[in-house]
Amino acid sequence: MPSADLSAPLIALRDVHLSFADTPVLRGIDLDVQRGQAVSIIGPSGSGKSTLLRCITGLLRPQRGQIRVDDTAVHALHSDAEFIALRKRVGFVFQQYNLFPHLSVLENLTIAPCKVLGRERREAQDEALRLLGKVCLEHKARAYPGELSGGQQQRVAIARALAMRPELILFDEVTSALDPETVGEVLRVIRELIEEGMTCVLVTHEMRFAEEISDAVYFTEHGVIVEHGSPRQLFNEPRSPRTRAFLQHTL
Ligand code: ADP
Ligand code: MG
Repeated sequence: MPSADLSAPLIALRDVHLSFADTPVLRGIDLDVQRGQAVSIIGPSGSGKSTLLRCITGLLRPQRGQIRVDDTAVHALHSDAEFIALRKRVGFVFQQYNLFPHLSVLENLTIAPCKVLGRERREAQDEALRLLGKVCLEHKARAYPGELSGGQQQRVAIARALAMRPELILFDEVTSALDPETVGEVLRVIRELIEEGMTCVLVTHEMRFAEEISDAVYFTEHGVIVEHGSPRQLFNEPRSPRTRAFLQHTL
């Protein structure tokens, strides 16, 4: 159940530390995302951005620190039931779509709502068709993922995340594997979601997009948040020379 305190952040990380074997990858991350906000995370490859998102979903457990999604202590999930409850609330879209190749587009959208949420097949199909309409792919309902372009597959992946009616969605470099000409169609879908008030965390290399749509931007390097601020401040007047150097190479 959502907590009563609507002013509390929907996502809060406090002093999150995570190592793989002896290699520290997250070294004291603090991050807040309010309901309805879009927060972007930028930074060089290997700085721990994907690891951070996986911690928010409960797929990885930090060795130290706290992660809260609403009233759920994600760092201390005890049972499969608690984990599944969290997964219903947190949508996740990856760089590599991860659609089920042997299922049609429609089935990709209905399988989890039916199996995990116990929704009626007919109801799940109606909702799936509505969501495919939202990403302009209603006409591909019977197609298989392999028959679609990268941009179309990624829009299906977003619709599939929405089919679970999540409270927030994490996007991990969802346009990085796409042909340049299909990036825009995916960003358009994400922009609409943000305008509708979906809480979003985006790891992205699309700096202009991040600047336009974010309420806050975090710059990470070597597992720490170097700085964060409004997109206007961070992109135009970065405080840290590290941020400045990174932006010079990417903008
Ligand atoms: P980013 O998404 O910013 O590129 P990642 O979070 O994917 O960074 O990775 C951060 C660091 O952690 C990298 O050095 C990567 O090699 C390492 N890493 C990521 N996942 C694992 C894993 N499962 N086991 C060991 N090392 C990992
Ligand atoms: Mg990554």
